[in-house]
Amino acid sequence: MRLTRLTEHIWYMPFEEERDRPNLGYVKGNHWSLAIDAGHSAAHVREFYNLLEKENLPLPGLTVLTHWHWDHTFGMHAVKGLTLANDKTNRYLAEWKEKTEKNGPGEFFALHESIRREYSENPEVIVKQADIVFSREITLDLGSCTVKVIQAEAPHTDDSTLVCVDHDKTLFLGDSAGDDFFTGIKRPDLCRKLADTIRRINPEICVEGHWVPANPEDTLADLMCDIP
Ligand SMILES: [Zn+2]
Repeated sequence: MRLTRLTEHIWYMPFEEERDRPNLGYVKGNHWSLAIDAGHSAAHVREFYNLLEKENLPLPGLTVLTHWHWDHTFGMHAVKGLTLANDKTNRYLAEWKEKTEKNGPGEFFALHESIRREYSENPEVIVKQADIVFSREITLDLGSCTVKVIQAEAPHTDDSTLVCVDHDKTLFLGDSAGDDFFTGIKRPDLCRKLADTIRRINPEICVEGHWVPANPEDTLADLMCDIP
């Protein structure tokens, strides 16, 4: 796996299908840097950090979560620095932390084969809540690079966070544009709301969790396909 430079301030480690690992984003300003999503496990985080170190990039001071799903958050216990999530994401993490600590990881492993592959060497499943919780929107100044972290209504989950790197006109969407993992439903009203949000932000590049960086027109077309 390689680290790819996307724009002036942005790098990412690409997604992997087999273990359902999403893209992990990295944004570097003049003063500090952040990561987008904590990944599936401690091993996923370590792989990402090894690539950053190889490029002499400082490890992120903050990791921003796009939504609560395990492949984006269960590496949180292994990240350096602090973590940031919206209040709904943090509530879901609290639920899974309690369940996992009380009953063990059985329910988590039963969710999907990709999870059993990620955890095939039996590392402990550790769920953590975020260190910093926001609602609606927060702006971060990394030093000549501002990043807006925006809570958004979207079809994938009800706890979506979008991350917009203003100067680089790049929008990280997490999985927000996809259907609901548990029901397979893609609610048209929520697709329209997310499409409006993307158009309002007006990025030049959209980075979805499990896809290559794309032109926003393609992302919007995909989001709105089959929606009347
Ligand atoms: Zn997801």
